Amino acid sequence: MKAKVDQDACISCGLCVEICPAVFEMNTEDKAVVKSEKIPAEAKDACRQAAANCPVEAITITE
Ligand code: SF4
Repeated sequence: MKAKVDQDACISCGLCVEICPAVFEMNTEDKAVVKSEKIPAEAKDACRQAAANCPVEAITITE
């Protein structure tokens, strides 16, 4: 499973980092980025939840 953040779409709300800090972090431009290429098994549910809750649907999950 992989996650990707559309940098142009992200509005820097920080929700994904709050929901799934194992996968997402804010970069120096205050946009969310994915920390690691491969999502750890224990973070998958939270990662999916973060994608579902992103207000601008900027997160894409590839299973
Ligand atoms: S939830 Fe969406 S809009 Fe908010 S910081 Fe994460 S990727 Fe950006």
